[in-house]
Amino acid sequence: MQRTALVVGVANQRSLAWSSALALLRGDFDHVIVTYQNERFQNSIEKMVLKENKDNGLKSGSSTAVPKLISCLSCEVANESEVHSLFDERIPSLLHDRAISLHDRLNLNMNMKLDAMVHCVAYAPADAMKSAFDLPFLNTTKESFEIAHSISSHSLITLSKHALPLLSCEGDDESVERSPSITALTYLGSSRAVQNYNVMGPAKASLEASVRGLALELSPPPHSIRVNAVSAGPVNTLAARGIRNFGEMKHEAEERSFLKRSVTGDEVGNLVEFVAGSRASGVTGQVLFCDGGYSSFGG
Ligand code: NAD
Repeated sequence: MQRTALVVGVANQRSLAWSSALALLRGDFDHVIVTYQNERFQNSIEKMVLKENKDNGLKSGSSTAVPKLISCLSCEVANESEVHSLFDERIPSLLHDRAISLHDRLNLNMNMKLDAMVHCVAYAPADAMKSAFDLPFLNTTKESFEIAHSISSHSLITLSKHALPLLSCEGDDESVERSPSITALTYLGSSRAVQNYNVMGPAKASLEASVRGLALELSPPPHSIRVNAVSAGPVNTLAARGIRNFGEMKHEAEERSFLKRSVTGDEVGNLVEFVAGSRASGVTGQVLFCDGGYSSFGG
């Protein structure tokens, strides 16, 4: 069965979205569509995608194997008409092209569906994350609070709503085999007070509550979509650099985690691949940790 995943939020090669996309491609997804925020990222992401497709073409060898493919599109999650065109026009058009190519080359029929969506989007204004105040969280403005929650949490609801027709098992005979999923990336600052995580703490709490709310509504038939979150330990990415003293936060996680090291993007991607894929067909409404055990440390 051909399987397609959408991963939202690639900025560069360090992005957890990129590690997740590569892990999905190594796993049982043969087509992964990644999105970047705007044209600022377009050139570099297109180059990364081109290189990956070239390498995969060289690796796959056999003329009868389904070729692995990664594609990229833009998506600014704050712009609902862009989100609408992503799911109503641009993804269906990519699926259509892929279906024609697989049919012509290998006589395969594709289901024209999305089997997984991975949300890797987070943002809070710099004044809330690198505040000059002694009490930075106390000084969070209403505007920064709203922006952080809108981009980092409500976007999961917007994306899920527009993705529903492509993800849903309604009218499918293969719901257990497909086991479609939505997975969001989160952080422990949702439930613990973490120095310098500021307004992103409540934004991640809201994201995790949204994961449970969506799981409650979307997991039963007819949609049968599983919804989960993967909570990652600190990884040095573009978004992480927006957190004051991120190096200290990472160092503390290394000292206090059971593994005595930080996790890698690849390790986070591997957990995303597992939970997003059909081997996790019984898992929904959960937050799964990839943090070397840090979240279980009692002191
Ligand atoms: P990243 O900077 O690579 O990814 C964040 C992405 O969000 C970027 O691609 C950025 O363009 C995108 N984004 C921001 N605002 C957007 C908007 N309005 N529209 C569309 N896209 C937008 O950093 P990352 O660390 O890979 O972050 C991915 C996810 O992982 C985030 O949800 C983050 O909170 C989460 N996470 C990261 C860590 C870590 O230590 N890096 C730990 C736990 C969870």
